Amino acid sequence: MADDPAAVDLHHPPAVDPELLDVLDRLADRRAAVAPFDIGFPAATDIDYTPLTSRLAGRLLNNLGDPTVEGLYPHHTKRQEREAIGILGDLLHAPAQDRWGYIAGGASEGTEYALLVARSLYPDAIAYHSAACHDSVPGAIHRLGMRSVTIRVDAVDEIDYDDLAAQIDRRRDRPAVVVANAGTPMREAVDDVRHISAVLDQLAVRRRFVHVDAALAGLPLATVSPRLRPGFDFDDGADSVVLSGHKFPGTPLPCAAVIVRDSRRRALLATPTYTGSPNATVACSRSGLAVLAFWFALKLLGVDGLRRRAAASRDVAAYAHQRLVDIGWDAHRHPLGFTVCFPDPRLPRWPLAAIGGWSHLIAMPGVTREHVDAFLADALAHHINGATTAVPRQRTVRPVDFTAPIPVLA
Ligand SMILES: *Cc1c(COP(=O)(O)O)cnc(C)c1O
Repeated sequence: MADDPAAVDLHHPPAVDPELLDVLDRLADRRAAVAPFDIGFPAATDIDYTPLTSRLAGRLLNNLGDPTVEGLYPHHTKRQEREAIGILGDLLHAPAQDRWGYIAGGASEGTEYALLVARSLYPDAIAYHSAACHDSVPGAIHRLGMRSVTIRVDAVDEIDYDDLAAQIDRRRDRPAVVVANAGTPMREAVDDVRHISAVLDQLAVRRRFVHVDAALAGLPLATVSPRLRPGFDFDDGADSVVLSGHKFPGTPLPCAAVIVRDSRRRALLATPTYTGSPNATVACSRSGLAVLAFWFALKLLGVDGLRRRAAASRDVAAYAHQRLVDIGWDAHRHPLGFTVCFPDPRLPRWPLAAIGGWSHLIAMPGVTREHVDAFLADALAHHINGATTAVPRQRTVRPVDFTAPIPVLA
């Protein structure tokens, strides 16, 4: 009678099959085995989240809808969400009386939300983004049905401001939505939003919206004095900024904060629903646990802790860069970045991102000089010094062409 629903004992959860536990153990083992080689992707690993996960990860926490409206569902973490948005909003100089934000499922969703706000203001806008941006930017533009122009980048992936000015100038009858990068995916290049604002001012483009994709670099950059870093925050001219939780804070669940000027999202204000909280975000259900993890990292470290941690990681990145240059590699690093870019060495044990013959290591918190030394020892053992000549010098990362017709499945 195992199929009889009446036979299910609701008072006792099912016992976990040892085979199931075995799968979980093997996944945990694989994680541990890769840890010494984990320098290729931008997820920090230094924070222990178990005080949080051991208490709260076993049951649903769901931040349904607008974080500023508690709603009827009781199991949420919206108070912590508002606090996290407050801390991040202060760091980004978002106007205290004119800010709103939420924690999305990732930076791609955050950018899509920001572009949705921009399109609600200017349905006939042209979106401008650099050739080095993350795929999520042309992806969101495509899904929102916006027209866009790709702007050239310089040799280290920063947007070409002259090309931006020329392209906007050709379409001055249309509003402009500019997506700037604070940390491009391959080289962590930063587009200066003060420079972008100056371009828009000079062309007298008043109908405009500037979104900053600051998934990786926004939080560490925000701990540096504005005088010593490129412009990327609200004071510099941003209307919205997205910052990832699973990158610099290293939250164990993917998430990203998106913050916008509240006054600019009026056209998008949603009506209340049966949950008691207007569905003001892209997704309806959102992970309350991811929110809590982002909040936990911010409270644990404080702004000073974030600043010291960013500086320590930049030291490791500078060390890696110098050592690679010393052995003759064509290595590059943004002076404030964690990313060291170099020709793809194709080292079997090291899981590194690669495109167009280029690769990188990212000295996220948790990556130490010992990781770098081990990587160098392996590279030298494989005789990959002066790797530059062996690899094509094609450095611009081409985004996917989302304007191509979508193949129709038979
Ligand atoms: C990682 C990254 C993204 C994508 O973030 P998801 O959270 O995976 O959606 C977008 N933009 C930049 C610059 C990134 O570094």
